[in-house]
Amino acid sequence: MSNLPKKTDAILIGAGIMSATLGSLLKELASEWEIKVFEKLENAGEESSNEWNNAGTGHSALCELNYTSEKSDGSIDIKKAIKINEQFQLSRQFWSYLVDRNLIRNPQDFIMPIPHMSFVQGEENVSFLKKRFDALSNNPLFQGMQFSDDPEKLKEWMPLIMEGRTWNEPIAATRIDSGTDVNFGALTRMLFDHLKSKNVEINYNHNVKDIKRTSDGLWEVKVHDINSGKIEYHTAKFVFIGGGGGSLPLLQKTGIPESKHIGGFPVSGLFMVCNNPDVVAQHHAKVYGKAKVGAPPMSVPHLDTRYINNKKTLLFGPFAGFSPKFLKTGSNLDLIGSVKPNNVLTMLAAGIKEMALTKYLIQQVLLSNEKRMEELREFIPNAKSKDWDLVVAGQRVQVIKDTDAGGKGTLQFGTEVVSAADGSIAALLGASPGASTAVHVMLEVLEKCFPQHMQEWKPKIKEMIPSYGLSLVENPDIFQEIHTSTAQTLGLIKKELVYS
Ligand SMILES: Cc1cc2nc3c(=O)[nH]c(=O)nc-3n(C[C@H](O)[C@H](O)[C@H](O)COP(=O)(O)OP(=O)(O)OC[C@H]3O[C@@H](n4cnc5c(N)ncnc54)[C@H](O)[C@@H]3O)c2cc1C
Repeated sequence: MSNLPKKTDAILIGAGIMSATLGSLLKELASEWEIKVFEKLENAGEESSNEWNNAGTGHSALCELNYTSEKSDGSIDIKKAIKINEQFQLSRQFWSYLVDRNLIRNPQDFIMPIPHMSFVQGEENVSFLKKRFDALSNNPLFQGMQFSDDPEKLKEWMPLIMEGRTWNEPIAATRIDSGTDVNFGALTRMLFDHLKSKNVEINYNHNVKDIKRTSDGLWEVKVHDINSGKIEYHTAKFVFIGGGGGSLPLLQKTGIPESKHIGGFPVSGLFMVCNNPDVVAQHHAKVYGKAKVGAPPMSVPHLDTRYINNKKTLLFGPFAGFSPKFLKTGSNLDLIGSVKPNNVLTMLAAGIKEMALTKYLIQQVLLSNEKRMEELREFIPNAKSKDWDLVVAGQRVQVIKDTDAGGKGTLQFGTEVVSAADGSIAALLGASPGASTAVHVMLEVLEKCFPQHMQEWKPKIKEMIPSYGLSLVENPDIFQEIHTSTAQTLGLIKKELVYS
């Protein structure tokens, strides 16, 4: 290849679930656009989106207790839970659209039904769970949720967790059967196969080194071809930085005003994976507990049945930790390299504010295997060390920015689309709720970056995602219809009956 700039309509950096989703949306909305993807690894879905690097929960707030907080008057705030549930419904609809048209096949290879449960101990936690159940169970989005504090019922729901358990304080759980386990790695690879069939040029082993604005208003991306060692330059009218943890350094290179005063706080993760098929067979749910005091929301412990490579497995974790890398395959210099004159004060302020969190994360990294087993035994009292191995999960780079509410250097736990005022470039930062809400977040990218096309694109978006622009909680009939039809298309109803 010559190193003269090669012009295209859109460049997507990174081959994770976010670029996969944006590319797939764009190919339906503007099929004639020329799109190129640059990914530094050998394949798609190898970083956070990989099935072993995340927990695979189809986040819809059915079991995650951190999405429903207790207000000072003791009532439960369910606004965030509703928002996340509605966002997951957008993903279900887009995936169903793709399956319906044979653009991706075999949904059982990426999504499986699995009951979602929340499990707590202690009077205060049980009272919180009961209030949460009362607040959610009459809401159309959470219909079918059950609550029990009867040990016999709990034994039926989660035998492995109840076996060998002695308790001298109340225990309780909620259960909802319409939860899902999503193999985001498999989905990402399917979407990239689909994009390839639509003539999207996908360049693996291509590391994006720099992004600059050209004099004619385009973006020039400097790429290192790892195999040939050559440097290439590609230009595009629109660039999406979907580099996961690697997005912040690339965003900083653009020099756009919106990239200033932002920092990243990397959090590493570890899962314990069960190697004993007899133990795996005794559990059939995703069971979320409550985060310990002082622990960040992303370290809520959970015991998850997972379907990976069509095999049922059991994972516990994640144990959050501290690592200066922004990607699992990143460098120990990532964090220090992201400190720039424009964000140094923001980063310092966060460093001071988040001292306790950093200390907590370092302590977590230093946990011995036996200490981790003790945490697991809070879920599985009879767990044996020989049945469990450790796997390193992906990195999550949380956004640090200055906010009115939190002041300088405030740590954010959500995702943020940062885009140039003219919409010519956008980056996705943050990692929560994550892959489950990829469709919602990529629709946000379209709205921010292509306002001039939205009128024309809206009918097609509505065809793909019928609830786009609608509140499902205010339209329970539409929710019901969509929930049932997507469950049918994605094969969730039939399998629910077979497996439960
Ligand atoms: C421990 C853990 C548990 C999680 N659990 C869940 C869960 O249960 N449910 C859920 O919905 N979400 C979960 N998430 C979040 C979810 O995994 C992420 O939000 C999602 O995978 C991010 O996708 P992405 O495409 O932005 O990034 P990634 O999948 O990380 O992809 C980014 C890609 O960009 C490439 N890249 C980076 N820099 C460059 C460069 N300079 N040049 C070329 N390529 C580059 C990388 O190699 C990578 O392939 C979890 C994450 C972690 C770490």
